[in-house]
Amino acid sequence: MAVRVRFAPSPTGELHVGNARTALFNWLYARRNRGVFVLRIEDTDVERSEARYEGQLMQDLRWLGLDWEEGPDHLPDRGGAYGPYRQSERLALYQRYARELIAAGSAYYCFCSPDELEKDRRAAQAAGRQQIYSGKCRALPPAEAISRKEAGETASVRLRVPDEPLRFEDLVSGTVEFSPDVIGDPILLRSNGTAAYNYAVVIDDGLMQITHVIRGDDHISNTPRQMAVYHALARLPSPATDGCDWRLPQFAHLSTILGPDHTRLSKRHGVTSLAHFRERGILPEALANYLALLGWAPSGGDREIFSLPELVEAFSLEQVSRSPAIFDPVKLHWMNRHYLKQSDPERVLDLAIPIFRAAGQIGESPGEDLRRWLRGVVELLLPAVDDLSQLPEQARVIFEYDAAASIANDENQQVLAEPGARQVIEGFAEQAQQDEELTVERFRAALDHVKKTTRQKGKSLFQPVRIALTGSPSGRQLDRLVPLLEAGSRLELPKPVKSCRQRLMEFQQAWQR
Ligand code: GLU
Repeated sequence: MAVRVRFAPSPTGELHVGNARTALFNWLYARRNRGVFVLRIEDTDVERSEARYEGQLMQDLRWLGLDWEEGPDHLPDRGGAYGPYRQSERLALYQRYARELIAAGSAYYCFCSPDELEKDRRAAQAAGRQQIYSGKCRALPPAEAISRKEAGETASVRLRVPDEPLRFEDLVSGTVEFSPDVIGDPILLRSNGTAAYNYAVVIDDGLMQITHVIRGDDHISNTPRQMAVYHALARLPSPATDGCDWRLPQFAHLSTILGPDHTRLSKRHGVTSLAHFRERGILPEALANYLALLGWAPSGGDREIFSLPELVEAFSLEQVSRSPAIFDPVKLHWMNRHYLKQSDPERVLDLAIPIFRAAGQIGESPGEDLRRWLRGVVELLLPAVDDLSQLPEQARVIFEYDAAASIANDENQQVLAEPGARQVIEGFAEQAQQDEELTVERFRAALDHVKKTTRQKGKSLFQPVRIALTGSPSGRQLDRLVPLLEAGSRLELPKPVKSCRQRLMEFQQAWQR
């Protein structure tokens, strides 16, 4: 049977690391097995679901490199044969099957009010019993229940769960068994007519012919309830079942993701939405590679760098671990640096431009000259950043220069107080200012000259020069930075870049004071 998997997010917020990993594993499994990846939107929670989240979710998945054969954006005649793919559009199906289940005696009307249920729950809690439905309405004679319902009483629909343990073989967790005492009779339809998650998910997975349910292990305890729904549907007389045999899919529950402190990953660990990573200039291939290793490892070997096609090639559910995965931002950054280094510089530049713009370092729509220059800036600074959002901070060495502040800086003062420092800076400035532009050749010649005349070398030579030119005794390679400062000073920018000549002049003036 062809593999059909689904990712079934609820559009109630942004897509985060946990769900993105679920989506990725489903996608990898589908691609590995030449199967179908379905995107289904679980928007039955009307109050919390928002259309904008659905759009953002799809955008995030595409950004990560995932695509789907079936989903809410597919027309019925173009791969949408099992639609609609939004639960909010499937209400009639849920209601129809609920009627069938009631008629077959597998489900019943429950007239218990929320107050009553709450009272029962509290009593169970106080007595140390499982807080599951007491089963009060189970025994109502069907004819009585129907006439009460027809008389206008509000009722939910519950599944009659047989009194036997429910067991399944999870592809990740192995054998899982639940006793009937912890399951209770789950609600299928709420009294307002909407479908409950454990019911809708089975109707959908069944009718969409899903073969493998790969999802977070927070759903393990829902699985027996869902199994009971499958069993009840499978017992319906066949004309009711749309040619669907309600065979159980295989389940694979992915372990929880923990933060670096080994507690469940949450807001406390910082923002982990895909939108956030995208804005910060984490490359999608870095994130996908990183997410793939959250709970999965290739068989044999400790290789870590995988492109999406390589992941498809290597992926298997057997290699998914039961132990919780730790989300480690340091490792994500390591991967991102790896991919940034490998990326086409023009692509990195395109991603960096909005970030420089947001920082106010460049204006709207940079022209060709500015782009070319910026490309050099990015290439110089890239090795110093984990993600592109750190570029503006690193680029301050280019865009900002304040001689007085750099002289006042404690660390700089130590360098400037060294006996040879003044001579080095004066000598260098004199040499450097001989031409209009400080070319790399002249820069090197000037340093050489100062080295000979002052007999300073190493740190004692470089650090004072660095401070005078950049305001800091350390940083990126000066012979790459100098030409960028010179070229930058000729470009039109919101705040002009100061040339080397200007920097040296300002520095000497400030130092005399
Ligand atoms: N809408 C559910 C969630 O986002 C889907 C659970 C499932 O995959 O069955 O957690």
